[in-house]
Amino acid sequence: MINELSIYPKIVALPPGPRGRKIIEQSEFYLPPSFWRYYPLVIDSAKGCLVKDVDGNEYIDFNSGLGVMNAGHVHPHVIKAIEQQLEKFLHQSNSYDYSEIVVNLSKELSTIARMRSDIKIFYSNSGSEAVEAGIKAAMWHTRNKRILAFLGAYHGSTLGALSLAAVKTSQIRYFPTLFAVDHIPYPYCYRCSFGLTHPECNYQCIDYIEELLSRKIPPEEIAAIIFEPIQERAGCIVPPQGYFKRLKKVADRNELILIADEVQTSIGRTGRWLSVDIWNINPDIICLGGALSSGLPLGTTISKSDVMDWEPDSHSSTLGGNPISCAAALAVIDRVRSEHLLENAVKQGNYVLRRLREFAEKYYIIGDVRGKGLLLGFEIIKDQKTREPGIIEARKIIRKSFRRGVLPGLCGSSVIEITPPLNISRQHLDRGLEIMESAISEVSTGN
Ligand code: PMP
Repeated sequence: MINELSIYPKIVALPPGPRGRKIIEQSEFYLPPSFWRYYPLVIDSAKGCLVKDVDGNEYIDFNSGLGVMNAGHVHPHVIKAIEQQLEKFLHQSNSYDYSEIVVNLSKELSTIARMRSDIKIFYSNSGSEAVEAGIKAAMWHTRNKRILAFLGAYHGSTLGALSLAAVKTSQIRYFPTLFAVDHIPYPYCYRCSFGLTHPECNYQCIDYIEELLSRKIPPEEIAAIIFEPIQERAGCIVPPQGYFKRLKKVADRNELILIADEVQTSIGRTGRWLSVDIWNINPDIICLGGALSSGLPLGTTISKSDVMDWEPDSHSSTLGGNPISCAAALAVIDRVRSEHLLENAVKQGNYVLRRLREFAEKYYIIGDVRGKGLLLGFEIIKDQKTREPGIIEARKIIRKSFRRGVLPGLCGSSVIEITPPLNISRQHLDRGLEIMESAISEVSTGN
């Protein structure tokens, strides 16, 4: 049993230990080699912000199982809600019948997504499906088939969602793009596509979109612009303050549907229920994933009601909005409210950001530190002048941290990510950061 109050990670067998190695070997035999894992973690159990592996090692979780365990692992309220629903029924299909739990979750989501209009919600099973539904709804509504997406975008792995991707060629090689997608530069100010500096740039990246729309891509052919409020997969890239207001103006002027993919940035992760609230913008469609349901399969596509104007039998899902997942989602929403997790994400996030900035002063291999709430990243570089990504160095830091009992994330080419459960304590954060600093310090001196 994990002792939730235990502050220190416990490494009893250098991971992966003998049991872990065996399971990894068997997994590699049965599972395809398409995954990209940062370290060889074989989970046995988890509680709060702690994860135990099959060899008895205990880790501080700085990754939340790819950013979904916002309320922490195995939260007793979430478990209780799941158990209560298990006693009632396991399956109900919105394509066939109705259920109260779906209505209850929809009511909650209508208060969370402040879309300033009536909403419709389509439930599916994953973030990719939520995005697919958003794209389909926009195409249906506008009768257009062309989408604007961003360089660096990741919206999921189904072929439709993948058609929008531009983060790594390995993900898209050999696959067709199913509809016309034009990619525009994301405001990655540390590595600006235009070689400019914010705010002197005067948002040239926005002017570029306007120019594309006037010279190359007729706006009347476009169904939607899809964006991530923070590009997590591409390297935890946070746009500058005024960017999304300007993007919204471009969308409004050209009558384009705006789709926010909040699979990775919602349910308190950045200190707001939704990250679009950081910039106070009101998209037409919002897509959510497993963070809403504590990792249980659930995709949610929330749309302004007049946009999701499908006719009967035009879009459905047999398993989407599973009652167990909905029960978990209701419990997560309740916990975020009653444990003040939005406030905690901001408070602890600001603290970690400050600590990371101190690290950046001390260690030349840290180039940029950024993030919102508890979605934080720092970029490892080889050289402060050239900003060449420190790909090997970042991996070394991740591996060393793992062996010492901390589980950070890795995104972009060399960005280390800290995305712990939102109820993580200061003590756990401090201990995790101390361990990570020892790894950063060693790698910065060539070890
Ligand atoms: N959109 C974004 C922004 C994501 O990060 C992801 C993956 N976490 C997805 C969509 C796809 O979600 P899933 O893997 O649940 O299909």
